[in-house]
Amino acid sequence: MTKRVVLIGHPVAHSLSGAMQQAAFDAQGIDATYELWDRPPIELPDAIGELRADDFLGANITIPHKERVVPLVDRLTEEAHATGAVNTITREGRRLVGHNTDVPGFAAALDRLVGRSKMPRQAVVLGAGGGARAVVYSLIREGFQRVVVFNRHLHRAEGLVKHFGRSAAHMELRAMPWHPSIIESELAKTKVLVNATSIGLTTDVSPIPAEVLTPGLLVLDLIYNRTRLLRDADAAGATVQDGETMLLHQGAAAFTLWTGQPAPLQVMAEALSNARAHGLRSAEGEPAGDEAAPAAAG
Ligand code: NDP
Repeated sequence: MTKRVVLIGHPVAHSLSGAMQQAAFDAQGIDATYELWDRPPIELPDAIGELRADDFLGANITIPHKERVVPLVDRLTEEAHATGAVNTITREGRRLVGHNTDVPGFAAALDRLVGRSKMPRQAVVLGAGGGARAVVYSLIREGFQRVVVFNRHLHRAEGLVKHFGRSAAHMELRAMPWHPSIIESELAKTKVLVNATSIGLTTDVSPIPAEVLTPGLLVLDLIYNRTRLLRDADAAGATVQDGETMLLHQGAAAFTLWTGQPAPLQVMAEALSNARAHGLRSAEGEPAGDEAAPAAAG
């Protein structure tokens, strides 16, 4: 029986994950198909219910369902529980397990960004959505001692800090108001800057002024593009990385969860770059939040 894996989101058209995962199944000789299911929130419970059937290996969950899916599965892994978000589902018989592979995906991207240098201990995170939760949890686990979260709506950043209260008890996790002078003063004390907002996804703007970027910074943008922020940071002499590594590694971790096999990383990376060359975009990179554009963009 051909097994099935589905990506459930709204929208999911133009997903890069489809190309990446199908290439991985084919390369490993796994008889499975990766399907895209565009489901609005009201149809999510039924879609999740369908996954309990024998032909499913599992699913990926993307914008805007990552948090909404939490109460719909039977068990959460530590990462999914800690972040309050699920991006991958596996099946144990008829029971569904929710995972969050954005956490190891970000950790892999951070490792690559830091390279052979010593892992820094301070970070500034822009944004407080689902992506930011995976980032902050990953930074806490990595042993960061001070993480400052800036968000346009301060209450959401405060909610994130409260959410991680217990796991961050040993370190300093703070929410601060989105103000360029405060961001500048925090950046002067930090080494790592992560953009987990969707600013720069559909328009060529940076979340922060170029003048506050310094040569010693390590800058990671979750957006799968060479954004204005990354270009500004590069011009300032900083080390930069876009969201590709995170996307690849969250996908690789999901592949292993579904199949029990190591992911063919090279095959997946090539499929990603081919799909991108053909104009496909990540479902993660679909317009979101206030920057929303027509669903078929990309
Ligand atoms: P959410 O919708 O949950 O959060 C969006 C964030 O962006 C919020 O912090 C929001 O602030 C902020 N934001 C949006 N528009 C503006 C604006 N005009 N001005 C200021 N702040 C703004 O999205 P996610 O957290 O799921 O995703 C965030 C980004 O990360 C997306 O670009 C997504 O593509 C990317 N991503 C990439 C992944 C990868 O594998 N590479 C994985 C996950 C995410 P506020 O709360 O104030 O509205």
